[in-house]
Amino acid sequence: MTAKGDIRFLPRPGHEKAFRGEAALAARPAAAADIPLASGDLILPMPVNAHDHGYGIRTLDFGSVDDALEAWIPTMRLRPRTDPYLEALVAFARLAKTGIGATIHCHNSLNAARLVDEALQVIRAAGEVGIRVGLSCPLLDHDAWAYDGGPERLRPFLNPEDWEALSPTAPRYAPFREQMAAVDAVAAANANPLVDVQYGPVGPQWCSDALLEAIAEASATNGRRIHMHLLESPRQRLWLDRRFPQGIVRHLDEIGFLSPRLAVAHGVQLRPEEYELLAERGVQLVSNPSANLRLRSGVAPLADAARSGLRFGIGLDGSAFDDDQDLWREMRLLYFLHGGRGLTRDFTAAAIFDAAIRTGSIVVNAPLDQDFTVVDYAGLIEDSLFDDLDEAEVLLTRMSAARAKGLHVAGRPVMRDGKLLTVDFDAARRELVAQAKADLPRLTAERERCGKLIAATRAYYSGWAKS
Ligand SMILES: [Zn+2]
Repeated sequence: MTAKGDIRFLPRPGHEKAFRGEAALAARPAAAADIPLASGDLILPMPVNAHDHGYGIRTLDFGSVDDALEAWIPTMRLRPRTDPYLEALVAFARLAKTGIGATIHCHNSLNAARLVDEALQVIRAAGEVGIRVGLSCPLLDHDAWAYDGGPERLRPFLNPEDWEALSPTAPRYAPFREQMAAVDAVAAANANPLVDVQYGPVGPQWCSDALLEAIAEASATNGRRIHMHLLESPRQRLWLDRRFPQGIVRHLDEIGFLSPRLAVAHGVQLRPEEYELLAERGVQLVSNPSANLRLRSGVAPLADAARSGLRFGIGLDGSAFDDDQDLWREMRLLYFLHGGRGLTRDFTAAAIFDAAIRTGSIVVNAPLDQDFTVVDYAGLIEDSLFDDLDEAEVLLTRMSAARAKGLHVAGRPVMRDGKLLTVDFDAARRELVAQAKADLPRLTAERERCGKLIAATRAYYSGWAKS
């Protein structure tokens, strides 16, 4: 059988090679039986983007240039005011075009009153595009702008006029009980079975002790999942070590926060005893290697953490390597970054695909074996002399969004030949960009203030060791 003359089904990438030809068709699970396949196609269980923020207008496009995390965060002020439905629609559609139909969406809204309405619009967008979403609803009530004290800490680094202008714009948080009630209201109103509403404490440095405790208790009671950023930057490590002398991970364990219902994003600064404890408690880590490089957080101790039994997923965090939301390239980067220097690989292709597919499905709370991606495999091996290469290695070496040929989520065809079947991506994107441009007068003024806040933030942390 020639490479062009067959269809491949790759149910367990990296563990075993693909079924081919008739055997591939026979081995397909019922959920994939109706998916049209052509000669040269490869079908596999769909990888999951296990951490993201749903940028319809991507960060660079609204003038947010990569920087150290804390100096980058103020640039979120430049996010254009657009319709939350359209923003999510474009973000989800962009991802679906790459053959990925499940994502964590960490929603950015500081207004508890608006959260319910905005989240319902995100849910509607997910339904129209036809993808699965783990909807992480933001919860935060502590230390805006600066760790160890909040906005006041930046005052010495701003002239009095700038402080007068900027300080009223610091976020004011609703009482956390109200925020949590809003999350429960979103969950109660959600009628889309492909959306899983989750608690989204933004990060322990932005949460009071009482809020973290309340989330742990609520999750244990109602079974709702938690998705939280954890130990992303070196400065978070320094500050959390001061705030929790026993260690933040130990503290989270003491309050019952660690469980298989929890996924933590980044974990770049985790120590061995910490990832061992996370592994023991069944927590999942979501690694975002490009974001960690782009925001100068570093490289997570992922191979060691995985060796200790910690399950990990893979996320784009809105900051892919080529800024193109291509999870396939993200998988490649992660594979290369953590491959080590040994004669034999202990960080394998199987581990990467298990992370993206299996652990990813846990993080978004989706069933396995319901969602599939079709790849133009013949195109990937066009010039290959052998057609029996391990398909997982071929995918990790060459796969990109451009070779994603089909996407089927929960029995529904979402994308074929790079074109969405569900929504008009180009029209939605044009409308979104027009909305964003209409916000330019406000953003132009905001840009100047933002620059001052960034400078003050950098000055504040410049005294911190390791920064
Ligand atoms: Zn994130």
